[in-house]
Amino acid sequence: MKAKIVILPGDGIGTEVVEGATAVLHTIAQKFGHTFETEEQLIGGCAIDAEGTALPEATVTACQSADAVLLGAVGGTKWDDPNAKVRPEQGLLGIRKAMGLFANLRPVKLYPALADASPLRRDKLDGVDILVVRELTGGIYFGERERWTDENGEEWGKDTMLYSASEVRRIADIAFKAAQGRRGKVASIDKANVLDSSRLWRKTVVALAEEYPDVELEHVLVDAATMHLLSRPSSFDVMVAGNMFGDIVTDEASMLTGSMGNLPSAALGSALNSHGLPRGMYEPIHGSAPDIAGMGIANPVGMIMSLAMMLRHSLGLEEEAMLVETAVAQAINDGHRTGDLARDGEKALSTEEMTAVILQNLEN
Ligand code: NAD
Repeated sequence: MKAKIVILPGDGIGTEVVEGATAVLHTIAQKFGHTFETEEQLIGGCAIDAEGTALPEATVTACQSADAVLLGAVGGTKWDDPNAKVRPEQGLLGIRKAMGLFANLRPVKLYPALADASPLRRDKLDGVDILVVRELTGGIYFGERERWTDENGEEWGKDTMLYSASEVRRIADIAFKAAQGRRGKVASIDKANVLDSSRLWRKTVVALAEEYPDVELEHVLVDAATMHLLSRPSSFDVMVAGNMFGDIVTDEASMLTGSMGNLPSAALGSALNSHGLPRGMYEPIHGSAPDIAGMGIANPVGMIMSLAMMLRHSLGLEEEAMLVETAVAQAINDGHRTGDLARDGEKALSTEEMTAVILQNLEN
């Protein structure tokens, strides 16, 4: 197969973990005789430094004509000024919007060998296998916002949470369909006891559920959901949530697996690529981790597992995707750990060393 992949390393550890994923991509190409044409573009802080904008036009154009996009992470202390007009996150939100990527799939699966790296007791973790389906191009992150100072000198800030029924319907539909291929359960996360946008969310999900009689639906208020993720994590199958609630619950859920550095994600929309498959963007759920950026110690697993999701969803290469996932699982089962997962007395591998183990497993 021939495919064009745009690579957006971004900032901080984004650039470091993308190197590992690129090496895996080339190994897969060689092993299976595929031609992956890769092209790097700027996004986030590095784009602000180079071009004064977090999302250059050339990046948007390249992504919109690619078969798939791999993204590291954006952001960092250098661009953190809260009063700055141009911010790295504008690049991320902008490219999701420009590519119409409204659905974010975030699988949270525990590697049994890492159960001791989780802050939860091992007996709570048995069977944890969750797919969080997060809405990605609507809600409070895209609503109207304003900052102002009133006549008494008091400062104000305002954000708006806005959802249309059709936006809720299309994301919930993805969740119900995903549940049909899994354990048949959807937990819809909202704050319907307080927010009108959540009451519309719930009404729409309830109506759609009639089309999926084989899927069991529960509604969980977002505050309760954060509690249940700790008290009964294995009871969840698919969780569907709006943009902000999904952002929060996935970071919490990631810790069930020991580190957010492990978790991949796929952002999908309705646009199709040259293979008739979704033109998706694939990125680990973590950020640019300024506290460890440049040290070469970031965990590359979330990024490499995102690449596996790309092979599956945007290129239809199931066998290749499974091979990458098996190579990662084998590295972890064999006891290889980066610093975020190594326990006292265990050797902590660098990003490069962990990648080398995974590449070696792929070769064998
Ligand atoms: P973060 O995800 O960057 O880091 C949180 C903590 O997890 C840090 O202690 C970090 O060292 C650790 N960590 C994260 N990924 C790791 C990995 N692969 N290996 C080992 N340790 C890892 O979140 P943050 O500190 O809240 O944000 C830092 C910057 O990243 C901010 O500028 C934020 O806006 C940005 N951010 C970007 C994205 C994205 O690009 N998708 C997502 C979240 C945050």
